[in-house]
Amino acid sequence: MVKTLSELYEKVKVDENYVRVSKDDLFNFVVKVFMKLGIPENDAKTIADCIVTADLRGIESHGVQRLKRYINGIRMGGVNLKPNIRIVRDGPSYAVVDGDEGMGHVVGTFAMRLAIEKAKKTGIGVVVVRNSNHFGIAGYYSMMAARENLIGICMTNTRPLVAPTWGIDRVLGTNPISLAAPMENGYLLIDMATSTAPAGEIEIRKRKGDKIPEGWVLDKNGNMTTNPDDFFAGGALLPLGGFGELYGGHRGYCLAILVEVLTGLLSGGSWSKYVGETHQKHSDVCHFFMAINIENFVPLNQFKKALAKMAEEIKSSRKHPEAERIWIPGEKGFLTEETRLRIGIAIHRSVFEELNKIAEDLGIEKLKLIS
Ligand code: NDP
Repeated sequence: MVKTLSELYEKVKVDENYVRVSKDDLFNFVVKVFMKLGIPENDAKTIADCIVTADLRGIESHGVQRLKRYINGIRMGGVNLKPNIRIVRDGPSYAVVDGDEGMGHVVGTFAMRLAIEKAKKTGIGVVVVRNSNHFGIAGYYSMMAARENLIGICMTNTRPLVAPTWGIDRVLGTNPISLAAPMENGYLLIDMATSTAPAGEIEIRKRKGDKIPEGWVLDKNGNMTTNPDDFFAGGALLPLGGFGELYGGHRGYCLAILVEVLTGLLSGGSWSKYVGETHQKHSDVCHFFMAINIENFVPLNQFKKALAKMAEEIKSSRKHPEAERIWIPGEKGFLTEETRLRIGIAIHRSVFEELNKIAEDLGIEKLKLIS
């Protein structure tokens, strides 16, 4: 059978170790899990939407494979299930929000909605957040703005996982940065950790029994390693590339500090060195959200056309003889989403088994496979 372009381009390399579930089944399952744990239905839906969006776009590291971690975090009392999310300072185009230790997805959605509202009124909205928790994929929030014809920018700090260039201690976060913008016939979506990989990616390698590429992780003594276990035994991720330095790219290091400044420092919260894990009280994860109303700067259609033209010109430039094609950031993720909405979301068998154990434990219906 001839495969469609989308089927050929799932972001994750799916092999016989993966099974497929429908998006709706997975969403309903995740909603039930969080409701069972005491989270109100609307908030459970927000969290589920963010987690399932990650799986839809092929971002395995932040999909349902993280569910167990969130559950443990909640059970150990590290999350406020019914937070009183408060605006502690604000003006027409900015705000500082206290997340009251709520789930990061709920706090993040609140904050990006606020940034969007302000941008629509004033041309720009910047909302910084302190006292939150892990919020999943940064691109979820920047896309909220892009879908309303605004440019969305989002960043978060994380618990300390990354060594600075030439350092070996975990002091910085994996600190992702995302920018989304509407273009004719789609969106641009940049969404990336500022480290060589997110921690979740190392979990995936471990789960699959794979090695990690050289240059990603130092063990706790500062030696380069390809064994994922060394990371979990206290090793550190390295900042995103420079000129192939083995001890962390200075550019990723600079970007990680940029994120620390705009999240923890600007919100009056913690920078990554002092950020805790979800199961800890007052983990104080901090976020940054910005929405820019394009219309205030340039006619919207002109911007969307220009962005699409730029993307097309980049894609039609000469490619390497061994490359299939040139991609625009977000394109692979959206193709994966389109495919998975049609044929189901691929999840690793071991994650599927873990989800069924969670179902048994919480007394909810198990997840069905697509036959
Ligand atoms: P990737 O390295 O997979 O992708 C980074 C960006 O590059 C994406 O926008 C991606 O678009 C784009 N891209 C990938 N390949 C190409 C290509 N060949 N040509 C053009 N663009 C390309 O992401 P990361 O592993 O760095 O991050 C994964 C996720 O983890 C992100 O969603 C991030 O927000 C999240 N994260 C969350 C953290 C948290 O604490 N909450 C911490 C760290 C990361 P596309 O998707 O289309 O491939």
